[in-house]
Amino acid sequence: MGLTTALLAGGLTIVHHMPTLRLNTPVQYVPGVGPQRAELFTRLGLRTAADLLFNFPRDYQDFTEVRGIGQLEDDLSLSVRGKVEELDQRVSTAGRTITGLLIRDAAGDHLRAVWFNMAFMRDKFHIGQEVLLSGKVKQKGLVWEMSHPRVQYVDEAADADAPLLPVYRLTEGLKQLDIRAAARAALEGCTGQIEEALPEEFLAEHDLWPIEKALPQIHFPADGDNLKRAQRRFIFQELLILQLALGIRRVQIRADVAPKIDVSALVDARIRRLIPFKLTWGQEQAIAEISRDLQGEQPMNRLLQGDVGSGKTIVAVYALLAAVAAGYQGTLMAPTEILARQHAQTLSGMLAQAKAKVIELHGGISASARTEALRQIAAGEVDLVIGTQALLQADVKFARLGLVVIDEQHKFGVRQRAGLQAAGFQPHTLVMSATPIPRTVTMTLYGDLDISSLRDPVPGRQPVHTYIVEEAKRQGWWDFVREKLRQGRQAYVVSPRVDAGEATSAEERYEALANGELEEFRLNVVHGRLSSEDKELRINAFRDGETQVLICTTAVEVGLDVPNATLMTIEDGERFGLAQLHQLRGRISRGTHLGFCSVFAEPKTKEAQERLVAFASTTDGFALAEKDFQLRGPGEIFGDRQHGLPPLRIADLMRDEAILEESRGAAEGILKDDPQLARTELARLRALVAQHYGQALQLGSVG
Ligand code: ADP
Ligand code: MG
Repeated sequence: MGLTTALLAGGLTIVHHMPTLRLNTPVQYVPGVGPQRAELFTRLGLRTAADLLFNFPRDYQDFTEVRGIGQLEDDLSLSVRGKVEELDQRVSTAGRTITGLLIRDAAGDHLRAVWFNMAFMRDKFHIGQEVLLSGKVKQKGLVWEMSHPRVQYVDEAADADAPLLPVYRLTEGLKQLDIRAAARAALEGCTGQIEEALPEEFLAEHDLWPIEKALPQIHFPADGDNLKRAQRRFIFQELLILQLALGIRRVQIRADVAPKIDVSALVDARIRRLIPFKLTWGQEQAIAEISRDLQGEQPMNRLLQGDVGSGKTIVAVYALLAAVAAGYQGTLMAPTEILARQHAQTLSGMLAQAKAKVIELHGGISASARTEALRQIAAGEVDLVIGTQALLQADVKFARLGLVVIDEQHKFGVRQRAGLQAAGFQPHTLVMSATPIPRTVTMTLYGDLDISSLRDPVPGRQPVHTYIVEEAKRQGWWDFVREKLRQGRQAYVVSPRVDAGEATSAEERYEALANGELEEFRLNVVHGRLSSEDKELRINAFRDGETQVLICTTAVEVGLDVPNATLMTIEDGERFGLAQLHQLRGRISRGTHLGFCSVFAEPKTKEAQERLVAFASTTDGFALAEKDFQLRGPGEIFGDRQHGLPPLRIADLMRDEAILEESRGAAEGILKDDPQLARTELARLRALVAQHYGQALQLGSVG
């Protein structure tokens, strides 16, 4: 039998009969693997037979759409399978490198594939190799042609009649064939031993295949439909486990004791007297939700989501003042010093007549001022502390911290909520974010938070017109800027942050404009290399209207609020992400005048091109977020390792929105009846939750 042979081949003496594979059998003893290949499998993290079972294909070779070259139709997207007969490469008169490939299918018909400016494609093939090409076919004279098709290499020994073949992650020295064979053997040997994690009625309720049916089909699907069903089972399970973990976390957070902050009618009236405008419906709604949370016994954990300029600050201010009125301290943490100072000014301004005391805490204050600030915070002599991440340092001790507000929380990269603790209770937390993110990401990244959303812009907002400007039209744009500046408006000019020379790029821009296009105006420059005081002075001068044009790096990206600034020029626009561009544009939609944003850019990739087109086509932050997500995926958007999104092996937040919704509902249902997952039929599910998220979510006790 297979296993015995494998063991013998490995040089071991078998003294007794080993009947079958077990889930924990080392991969070396899976038929056909052996000790040498086992080493390679291990490199892929595949140590046991069970690992092979759950090593889901990253893709499939789809032969269901394969057609004979004789049966092609113009302009249809199809696959063609054949052997490489010729390879050629030449440079066209226009200077493009053209790589060509001629393949011949089983019936003897030919198809040509071409790639432009992708010289490296030539090295990806050899004569006689069997390939599967997918793409749009076009008839060019007598030959069928595909340009830039998707290429898959077909193993010689691939089952000629399998409709779909799995494609696994590989490492040097291993072939698809090897992993396929091992996966097959593991499936044959141990599918029956896998414990079902989901109760039978649950499977029925959500139309999910049981695991012993889904496992073989996800590796070797009988057809496309079966593959979908099998994938659905595992995607659902993966998202369910995630949502259970988030749900448990939600319950855990709520278990802490919170300061009780009553917002009486009197307090409400007092706070409102300080607000210089009528709140929007969304702001009212958010304030009502927050007030309700603050009065509860459990700590609030709420995300306030709203596009740039939707008026989040005042909602936070309301909550902070409510905390102070109830006798607690409040703190507001911003991602940059500039923003912290702006918030401090807003609050101090509003509270000029009130008793509440506001102080700042960030890198820009002197050591002695800091020592004094820490003393006052610990003694309870200040009510509101506005700062940056400096607030999280260990020696910052609050006397009676009631509320923590974190502004532009996505800027912190990781979820910075811990650290701020007061003795005896857990403060309420309000997290604010202006990066509109796709709903699915919200549900994942912030799945343990309650959410309030500000959907509408504040009243009186004027739209922003956006232009992607060609180099030749630059003069026209500066004419326009000059005209608006003369009418009293203000302008930003933004250069990207350059690794080594951030200061230089902004400084150079400043020199050039001050002695050129904008010489008749009052200009200033702000970038990361300036001291805090200097930065503040310059920004205040702009806020006060003394400076008409602010040349800057992305220092202005978040939060800066100068309503009279309505013009924005973005240099090297191809170097900014969509979210960043959107944030930048948010700076000039703050007042009652129309905003104008021009992006100078030389997109060098298709992605950069699409990004700019999307940016110019809408000011809807949510639409842009979806687009960004499609173009780049979550890793890029949220910063690679720091994005805080859990690793998903099979689910895809963009594609699987419907399943995510369903699994979230299912998780809520399960936890409502059984918050600890204590029922015996949930034992396996509980173990999986602990295994995947035990550490991250402090669920150790759950397993
Ligand atoms: P963001 O949500 O981007 O943080 P802000 O809170 O900075 O937005 O608000 C943007 C601007 O809109 C500020 O100048 C603020 O004073 C103003 N604002 C906020 N709410 C209202 C409102 N209800 N009516 C008029 N102006 C408002
Ligand atoms: Mg803000």
